[in-house]
Amino acid sequence: MAEIRVEALQKNFGEFTAVKGSTFTVADGEFFVMLGPSGCGKTTTLRMIAGLELPTSGSIFLGGEDVTFNRASHRDIAFVFQLFALYPHMNVRKNMGFPLVCQGMPRADIRQRVEETARLLRIDHILDKPVSGLAGGDRQRVALGRAIVRRPMAFMMDEPLGTLDSEFRDLMVRELRELHNSIGATTVYVTHDQLEAMAMADKIAVMNHGVIEQFGHPQEIYDRPATMFVADFIGSPPMNFLTVEGGLAPGARDVGLKEARIEVPELREAAPAETLMLGLRPEHIRLDDAGPLRGEVFGTEYLGTTQIVTLNVGDTQVKARLAADVMLREGETVGLSLDTARLSLFDATSGRALASARDDAAHALRTGTGG
Ligand code: ATP
Repeated sequence: MAEIRVEALQKNFGEFTAVKGSTFTVADGEFFVMLGPSGCGKTTTLRMIAGLELPTSGSIFLGGEDVTFNRASHRDIAFVFQLFALYPHMNVRKNMGFPLVCQGMPRADIRQRVEETARLLRIDHILDKPVSGLAGGDRQRVALGRAIVRRPMAFMMDEPLGTLDSEFRDLMVRELRELHNSIGATTVYVTHDQLEAMAMADKIAVMNHGVIEQFGHPQEIYDRPATMFVADFIGSPPMNFLTVEGGLAPGARDVGLKEARIEVPELREAAPAETLMLGLRPEHIRLDDAGPLRGEVFGTEYLGTTQIVTLNVGDTQVKARLAADVMLREGETVGLSLDTARLSLFDATSGRALASARDDAAHALRTGTGG
């Protein structure tokens, strides 16, 4: 298995730049997810790593070797596509064994490798069935099996669960992650679905318009989004944004918000005077009669164990995730307090999060570099 390193990777299609100078490293054995909206450059990046698309500039290293100009067939990478075409005239066993036949592996070894892989994927009972009658989930497992039997250095998966219905999808998300844990192969996985990404990834790159806006652990991306785009794209409902009145004076530790003062983390950089924005996840807003903010209940969305309550706070609408058994009436005014230890601050002009001393502490804790 192999580390994948990408340096200043760029792809232009004529005048249009689909991937703008991406640099990242996927460690050996990591499950890496490229996440972002349609057209942001995920597939193009994946295709360049696999050797199906030549970069305009930049470099790609696989297992330390510069493979930027190597053909796909010389990269020892296996692909799993969304609409993976199985050979309809072959049974499951033959479909799975086909890549090994192409490699000229002896028949007895192919049989053993296919059976081992089928057991891992729990499809050993259908090995001799035709693929034409299989359900979607089993077809996808056969497709995965065909990629896995080769034991490549790395896997590239492009929205492999895209066509499955939601029940199968949840199951396959768990199975894919378990499979990854058992074979430990470096994997690059492309999706626009944040829940898939959060559930499976060791590391996530969030892309927007060809740019990687943030690269990190799922929790880091959720808790400390690097940009307003990431904060908005990750989380359901997404992060609330509230405009800060009067900015943040140098050295000050609180800001003005709808006639209240809200404590903010100590910043490591100067805050913009005009365009400061406060970001807060819905679960970090609480009902509190003595709280600094007042909100008028606009609507509630019952989700079983929790409810999403939409509140008008002045002229801003925010969403709070509250316990399902809290009874609220539309039009009712409630007191609110914020979990200020969890909030983020953004420069609304650049869309960038402002770094705080708290981010350093969290990073040190995660990486064990705290001393
Ligand atoms: P999706 O999930 O919709 O495929 P994506 O994030 O994977 O989105 P890409 O397929 O990488 O996006 O495409 C990025 C941009 O590059 C899109 O605007 C797309 O139209 C453009 N693009 C991709 N391939 C080509 C091509 N061969 N020629 C011209 N433009 C292309």
